Amino acid sequence: MAEFKDKTVLITGGTRGIGRACAALFAREGANVAMCGRSAASAEQAAAEISAETGGTVAGYEADIGNGDAVDAMVKKVSERFGPVYVLVNNAGITRDNLLMRMKPADWSTVIETNLTGAFNCCRAVARDMVKQRQGRIINISSIIGIRGQGGQTNYAAAKAGLIGFSKSLAQELASRNITVNVVAPGYIETDMTAVLGDDVKAMLLEKIPLRRQGTGEDIAAAVRYFASDGASYVTGAVLQVDGGLAM
Ligand code: NDP
Repeated sequence: MAEFKDKTVLITGGTRGIGRACAALFAREGANVAMCGRSAASAEQAAAEISAETGGTVAGYEADIGNGDAVDAMVKKVSERFGPVYVLVNNAGITRDNLLMRMKPADWSTVIETNLTGAFNCCRAVARDMVKQRQGRIINISSIIGIRGQGGQTNYAAAKAGLIGFSKSLAQELASRNITVNVVAPGYIETDMTAVLGDDVKAMLLEKIPLRRQGTGEDIAAAVRYFASDGASYVTGAVLQVDGGLAM
């Protein structure tokens, strides 16, 4: 499939999990994939591995997405190398779970900075070029936790719910320039982020998932691909839950 051939696709947090599955999918489809992580070494190593696996073009960059200057510098490098970003996938995210009364202010602010301000920084860094090109696709990875909440995750839920409001607002700002902004809200996906959950929590979650399995990075990448595709050119401001029916 050549739909993304030579298009520039930027994925935040491509070193592991969902972001890595997205990077592999777009690399297989001929895109020039740029991805970032907090360390240059791991971003470059993951990029080289995905390149070798897929035969595609993947470049890794160091950027903490919570830092606007670092994001601007990365986007400049990416567009100088591959041309303006056509697809931005705001995927990088973290958890710092705790009950509100035990949550340290730093655990609140780090999660908001990464999961919400990170998307703001990246959108701001690519929007001008997208507007100039009169085209672009922004896909933000939220979570079903942003829709229905979860005790112990007030910081994460606030950031992920915020991301939905942010996306719908930006979708309205950019629609007249042929730029779409959509949200994928994953459920319980098998990655490092969920590997830390206890066996009892995992068993309880599995019991509540109508499709009776944990999702994979590839399940989420397929939804991201849809929003990035020509077939979704009339879809903006949408939230697609990809959760095996968990939040139904
Ligand atoms: P992982 O923990 O497996 O991977 C997180 C990725 O984000 C890594 O590549 C990490 O790179 C990167 N990252 C973290 N912080 C930063 C930062 N400040 N700057 C740049 N990169 C950063 O997570 P998942 O793949 O599970 O999650 C991906 C997204 O999906 C997240 O937004 C998450 O909230 C969301 N999600 C996940 C679910 C799940 O069940 N797994 C469910 C719902 C939503 P590095 O460590 O190299 O810096």
